[in-house]
Amino acid sequence: MSPTAKPLPKIKAIGKKAKEYKSEVKPIWCKGCGHYAVLAALTKALAQLELEKENVAVISGIGCSSRLPTYTRLFGFHGVHGRALPVAGGLKVARPDLTVIAVGGDGDGFSIGGNHFLHACRRNVNITYIAMDNEVYGMTKGQASPTSPSDWDQSKLTPHGTGVPALQPASLALGSGAGFIARGYFGDPRQLTDLIVQAIKYDGFSFVQALSNCITYVPEQKVWKQRVHEFESQNNADPIPTAADIQRDDGFGLGVIHNADHGAWMPEHPETQDEKLELEQMKSSFEL
Ligand code: SF4
Ligand code: MG
Repeated sequence: MSPTAKPLPKIKAIGKKAKEYKSEVKPIWCKGCGHYAVLAALTKALAQLELEKENVAVISGIGCSSRLPTYTRLFGFHGVHGRALPVAGGLKVARPDLTVIAVGGDGDGFSIGGNHFLHACRRNVNITYIAMDNEVYGMTKGQASPTSPSDWDQSKLTPHGTGVPALQPASLALGSGAGFIARGYFGDPRQLTDLIVQAIKYDGFSFVQALSNCITYVPEQKVWKQRVHEFESQNNADPIPTAADIQRDDGFGLGVIHNADHGAWMPEHPETQDEKLELEQMKSSFEL
């Protein structure tokens, strides 16, 4: 640059930043809880996708992780235990223009909401479900959940362990027809962000199991750091080898587990005046 040349004006940063999606509300999660990293990964994913805040809705159930919508500046619904998925699916059908994300924990999603989970997988509405799995009911002070290891004996309610094999969410999702299944880990927020980006971009129901530790009731989950590894896949587009891969895996394999193009399900919306009238008449016939 010649001594007389004016310095170039600073280029204004374009794009979005993760903090734009976070609210002023300070999370009340325990220090060291994995959910902080999941919240960070989700907001980073939204920033990468450059989604407008007013075009995204986050729907949750009940539990520590289900508090997440409060910590965002997105439209949100912190609703009924286990019922995030039908609310999210209904919202997407009514407002297809929105990006709809359901969030919650393993107890909320696989026990109370287990039935909704498998039907969301098979119905294939274009929503994303992030299940923050810490293998415990954290908010109600540490009871065993469907994903607790059978020999986890630190809960007063199950002093010798549950004796019941832990549920394998990826296996349930695959068997129920989900087209996109991934597993991330709160300790690898970069990969988790990438998986959430892929899940949101997927056209159909996408499921991300986010291993997210409960430092308070299961402090031994610190060993997850040594246990996580890359998910070994023969062919993640084909459900047959994927089923075997999931069975071979120890539940700590990270990455995209299944990615097959099923095409999202969406009911037809009335468009013509006659169709709208017919719908109104149908609705009024149900009125008491
Ligand atoms: Fe997180 Fe567990 Fe604390 Fe709940 S109880 S906020 S899951 S560490
Ligand atoms: Mg939990």
